[in-house]
Amino acid sequence: MSNPENQITANNFIRHIVADDFVTHKHNGKVATRFPPEPNGYLHIGHAKSICLNFGIAAENNGTCNLRFDDTNPEKESVEFMQSIETDVAWLGFQWTAKFHASDYFEQLYQYAVQLIQQGDAYVDDLTAEQIREYRGTLTEPGKESPNRNRPIAESLDLFARMRAGEFADGAYIVRAKIDMASPNINMRDPTIYRIRRAHHYRTGDAWCIYPMYDYTHCISDALEGITHSLCTLEFEDHRPLYDWVLDKLQTPCHPQQTEFARLQLEYTIVSKRKLAQLVNEKHVNGWNDPRMPTLAGLRRAGVTPAAIRDFCERIGVTKQNSWIEMGVLENCIREDLNENALRAMAVLKPLRVVIENYPENQVEQLQVSNHPQKPELGHRTIPFSKVILIEEDDFALVPPPKFKRLIEGGEVRLRGSYVIKCNQVICDESGKVIELRCSYDDATLGKNPEGRKVSGVIHWVDEQHSMPAELRLYDRLFNQPNPDTLDNFLDAINPNSLEVLADCRVEASLANAEIGTSYQFERTGYFCVDSDNCAEKLVFNRTVTLRDTWTK
Ligand code: ATP
Ligand code: MG
Repeated sequence: MSNPENQITANNFIRHIVADDFVTHKHNGKVATRFPPEPNGYLHIGHAKSICLNFGIAAENNGTCNLRFDDTNPEKESVEFMQSIETDVAWLGFQWTAKFHASDYFEQLYQYAVQLIQQGDAYVDDLTAEQIREYRGTLTEPGKESPNRNRPIAESLDLFARMRAGEFADGAYIVRAKIDMASPNINMRDPTIYRIRRAHHYRTGDAWCIYPMYDYTHCISDALEGITHSLCTLEFEDHRPLYDWVLDKLQTPCHPQQTEFARLQLEYTIVSKRKLAQLVNEKHVNGWNDPRMPTLAGLRRAGVTPAAIRDFCERIGVTKQNSWIEMGVLENCIREDLNENALRAMAVLKPLRVVIENYPENQVEQLQVSNHPQKPELGHRTIPFSKVILIEEDDFALVPPPKFKRLIEGGEVRLRGSYVIKCNQVICDESGKVIELRCSYDDATLGKNPEGRKVSGVIHWVDEQHSMPAELRLYDRLFNQPNPDTLDNFLDAINPNSLEVLADCRVEASLANAEIGTSYQFERTGYFCVDSDNCAEKLVFNRTVTLRDTWTK
């Protein structure tokens, strides 16, 4: 049965493969994918590419997509990581058909290994790790067969059972697939499929002291779940012959097709869990969800929405060519999404006091301002206006640069959503720093320009008395080089100025009860989101992204 919908969406090579498989009945019209993370860290933006692809392909074809934890390295895995992965996949907007763990299959994997030994396709070896390396050969030289390669089957079976029973020390024995030590593909030179490792597993506890290797586990897990399209990144291309070898030898009920695609590499950041773990463990960042991290938890805390990430994954596409994606591509997706959806509000980062001398003492006006100028359905809010307001230090200049459209001594400017004010007097401290402006307002200018005068500059402001103190955290890129991953030591490229904390900001009073995670466009300043450190005494916002791309010139 061919699926006409595929014609519409077949804009990447994997979609084409799936569409072709419908035509040839390769998988009986079924599409079953999986996302198989190892619970040894938090998910990052690279994983999002794989999630969108696997869940997307399934959804487009009325198929299924499992979440499978590939948990065969007990030392590095944990419940915390597993839970964070579930949270992040769901947050990204995807629902798995079923949830599995490779550890669910430990018994079956063991029995399959017994079968391989019985068939003469695997054997127990006792070479040391060093000997194994030595015997493996190189890219240009064939490997050497282990003296144990032709150990009698009964002896291997007995040793394997005793490995499981805990009779031997870690590393004393391994099980190896018996393939071809002269294969040009090193992965086929009798790869290890089981090892002894006394480590507590976060799910199976101490039930096992032997653990199956990734390559052996992955293909069998796929087959047991009836996966049709096993999508993985390019570095597994050379492992595909092993994937197929194992399934052919075991005659599993189904034989998934492995297809590789290029992993996401994003400039100015790192997408390797191992290195991200190092950043966390060595405290270069404040945890996995630090807003500077490319983790989904970090992006979420920074104020990035799942829709922006999905849009990004769609835009970068899926190919077989490794390439670097500019950070600006992700930032533009974030910007477009927030421009559309974030409520507008006013915040002053570096406040300068403005006294409006002709404004009545003790009068407070409630001005109506739009929550989103392009979306009237998002309504209005009122903001108080009175005699003393705060504007941005930078919006006044004693010695204005050319084309300065903001406030100068003797000049006029419009306060967003309010009146036009004129600066009559500048008050400085002993050092010459401007500490206060004396201004007057024109009460005929609320919402319209004064007759015959054109005031082009518009600045944001908050009322002094009716605004709230707030801390704004301005994040910049975590690395100051585009490809930190390619350096000998990626830590050398850490940007020492990736976080600037502005502790004395003021935000409009309407933000007093803003909920954690809500996004705002602080007018003229950037997109911000309420941080989880937010509390009644201290409002805290993270800058998600600047209003404009300040990186590409
Ligand atoms: P890392 O190098 O970050 O540890 P990994 O491949 O070891 O990545 P897994 O937890 O095994 O991490 O990844 C789960 C799935 O996500 C795999 O199918 C993997 O291919 C895919 N994936 C990981 N990193 C990327 C990336 N940068 N781009 C696209 N897919 C990725
Ligand atoms: Mg992996």
